[in-house]
Amino acid sequence: MLDSFHYLLFWICILGLCLGSFFNVVILRTLSGESIVFPPSKCPKCGKKLFFWHNIPVISYILLKGKCYFCKEKISLQYPLVELSTMILFALSYIKFENSITTLFVMFWVSCLIIMTGTDLKEQLVDCNIAIAMGISGIIFNVISAGTIGLTHSIAGIIIGGLILELIARTGYLFTDKRAMGEADTYVAGALGAIFGKDIIVVLLLGLLSSMVFILPVFFYNQYKNNNKITCILGVLFALAFVIMEAAWKNYFTLGLFILSGITLAISILKNLSKTENRNYLPYVPALAIGALIFLFFIV
Ligand SMILES: [Zn+2]
Repeated sequence: MLDSFHYLLFWICILGLCLGSFFNVVILRTLSGESIVFPPSKCPKCGKKLFFWHNIPVISYILLKGKCYFCKEKISLQYPLVELSTMILFALSYIKFENSITTLFVMFWVSCLIIMTGTDLKEQLVDCNIAIAMGISGIIFNVISAGTIGLTHSIAGIIIGGLILELIARTGYLFTDKRAMGEADTYVAGALGAIFGKDIIVVLLLGLLSSMVFILPVFFYNQYKNNNKITCILGVLFALAFVIMEAAWKNYFTLGLFILSGITLAISILKNLSKTENRNYLPYVPALAIGALIFLFFIV
């Protein structure tokens, strides 16, 4: 027999899978503007209504071999990915924070981050209301756990997070007439500030570092595909300058080279913002989400 910890963990995993399935619907209908409750699930290609057994999280995807039952159109990997990541993050929340009110809050924040990451990756669109809901829940959490000190903690975080992202966004105006990133990113950073207080600085740094690992390769691939060779070359030079400085010679000359190549790369990226927005799209919300998750599960 399972003990109560594993018994509850099992049901939290099931809950994660089911809610993940619901988040898939929320992501798609946030983008299409349809109601979340109606109409019932249908294939986006052939429009046929799905049977109930086509809606079982992950299992249906495997049974159907990733294709629509009727027209054999490929089903997006988004479905099982969102379901599995919700399950894993819910399980992590419970394992880390156990039977506490914190677990419920963390599960709510995880849900908001998954939905916003999904819509941002798919169509560079984020529903600010979700960020606001996440921010309000962060304030409530801090007030419950530390009263007025918690409230100050939250407000400081909102100001620091919002300000830092807003400042970065406005550097775009130095080179073009556009922001370097969307307004939603400021909302999300402010909301995370409400949760983490002044530790939001650590979260932003973690997000920045993780985005370099996960997002920059994709970004440079897109630059390459769009024939934006100069940014690619500058990116390679920047990486080279870093390697030379770190691995071989650490002196003022190599440091200067590193800083100079970094600045030219940044200018080249910002300058390209004026051409088309999507071409230089950097998914900041996923980066912020990754930073927040690393902080929640591995640092707190
Ligand atoms: Zn179909």
